[in-house]
Amino acid sequence: MTLVKMIRHLQEKNAVPVQRMCVTCRYFDPFVHRGKGRPYHCHFVDASFDRQEFRVDCRDHEQADPAFRAAAWEAFQTAYPTL
Ligand code: SF4
Repeated sequence: MTLVKMIRHLQEKNAVPVQRMCVTCRYFDPFVHRGKGRPYHCHFVDASFDRQEFRVDCRDHEQADPAFRAAAWEAFQTAYPTL
């Protein structure tokens, strides 16, 4: 998750091109399965997934609108505040 945070920070500073990460994707649903081993959900494939399956360069990625990206990032930060 440290890599995801680093990439997002660089994207926000326009230091790197937009990456096709789950956390910026319109299909990403963070923690919809909260409290379970696979907390995230991808609506593109309609499946839950865990940290090990988190994508940073997904070919199915579609950029979410700014409000959605901000909400997803807030949920992500809350779950992993010290990474
Ligand atoms: S489509 Fe790819 S980037 Fe988007 S949520 Fe699913 S796995 Fe993540």
